[in-house]
Amino acid sequence: MSLLEIHVLGAPGLRQESQPVGAITDDVRRLADDMFETMYAASGIGLAAAQVGRRERLFVVDVDDTPLVLINPELVARDGTAKGEEGCLSIPEIYGDVERAARVTMRALDADGRAFEVEGTELLARCLQHEMDHLQGRLFIDYLSILKRRSAMAKWERERAKYPSLRRTLDPRDLAEQHNDEAL
Ligand code: ZN
Repeated sequence: MSLLEIHVLGAPGLRQESQPVGAITDDVRRLADDMFETMYAASGIGLAAAQVGRRERLFVVDVDDTPLVLINPELVARDGTAKGEEGCLSIPEIYGDVERAARVTMRALDADGRAFEVEGTELLARCLQHEMDHLQGRLFIDYLSILKRRSAMAKWERERAKYPSLRRTLDPRDLAEQHNDEAL
């Protein structure tokens, strides 16, 4: 397994729609493994392929110690609304409240090509919807009010200077120093 570079806001791939995965090959499984390793190194709970510069319609999540790979996911049910704070591994240090469905059910293929359904509430529901958005090129900042978005972008302009190539390279040795904010 290897750590992947995370593309940050401004990288064009983050705004592109992902493409359905045809065959689940060893290459796809390796991508999922590398995405897990990268997500854990970044202290994240979700990561979409678009965030590591890939086009596959695929994301990984791990909420409550339950790692899941969702390939070609579809939303099959949603219910209620809940507001909560979100961050994103592709927009480091920026946070904002987003209203999401309180409960969602998604259907997807796992890394062995088997269809499964996952129902999420609370943090898992939020995480699944956030990652699903990445597959459409949508980011959590798109949901912020104009004023909140403007202040988030002003802060991001300063943060972005840390990523001149619009890539975030993780250093496993930094792990111990990281704070505990969960990012998706
Ligand atoms: Zn994200």
